[in-house]
Amino acid sequence: MRLWASAVVSLHRPIADHGSDAASAASELELTMKLWSLLGNSQKLDGGAMFGNAPRAMWANWSPPDEQNRIELACRALLASPLAGKTVLFEAGIGAFFEPKLRERYGVVEDRHVLLESLASAGFTPEDIDVVVLSHLHFDHAGGLLAAYAEGEPPRLVFPNASYVTGREHWQRAIAPHPRDRASFIPELPGLLEATGRLELVDGEHSKTLGNAVRFHYSDGHTPGLMLSEILGPEIVDGQPRGGVVFCADLIPGRPWVHVPITMGYDRNAELLIDEKKAFLADKLERNVHLFFTHDPACALAQVTRDERGRYRTAHEVAELHARAMAA
Ligand SMILES: [Zn+2]
Repeated sequence: MRLWASAVVSLHRPIADHGSDAASAASELELTMKLWSLLGNSQKLDGGAMFGNAPRAMWANWSPPDEQNRIELACRALLASPLAGKTVLFEAGIGAFFEPKLRERYGVVEDRHVLLESLASAGFTPEDIDVVVLSHLHFDHAGGLLAAYAEGEPPRLVFPNASYVTGREHWQRAIAPHPRDRASFIPELPGLLEATGRLELVDGEHSKTLGNAVRFHYSDGHTPGLMLSEILGPEIVDGQPRGGVVFCADLIPGRPWVHVPITMGYDRNAELLIDEKKAFLADKLERNVHLFFTHDPACALAQVTRDERGRYRTAHEVAELHARAMAA
């Protein structure tokens, strides 16, 4: 499996890998796009809530809890540039917008805005971000859009030039939440995004902002209209794009949730989520689309496999992406 094997390997492909002129031209074009995984603020949350009906004896092996029964969670963003000619950030993590009391309640570890530091390490400024894609507006995915908390100052956005892309169905949920997940939304955020004049609400498979380079899948088990972004791979087989990477958001927050029956207590409809996840994984396995995890503390990207008993697993796990080329 050479796709994603490593940036170094992809630059040293054997001659035989170069196909027709059109294919190699397309792959040269794709080679110019690079991917970075960017860690944002990390979080400690109750392990039982993160693993739904799975017994602690099981999940404690996957995510060892601390003395308060909390497990470590990352909030990892994906940066792609140039993608559709733009610098695109997939999600922003939880950020540092919470006041100290809420920061403590939600187990946000650092008080500084870690994503902005990771962005700087990758060689980008907040001004460089042209587009932010949001799978949904729960605060642990969208809070990083806001500046770090400062006493007496109202919330403000930190990416001055960004357009924002999110699903229309989920937007309706965000502006009128259900009592069960009202606390997961930032009340000021929808107004701030609308006020930029650069908000695109997406209904279908593609957005105007990113065109055909990114295809969206939807899932309702975690929250209505959760939008899953697939950066399309460079190969087309039987009319379908192969390779590429999909941002799994809260459909599959990390490797333990690749196991189909494992859901979160935060999911609004666990059975629906399981059905959606099965179909999602079958499709990604079939087309060799790699999974990008936001909440897994140790794994940014992995390939989907299936074991001899038919259970979905991951392989070729990658802890971090640093200017990684998506090669054919
Ligand atoms: Zn969520």
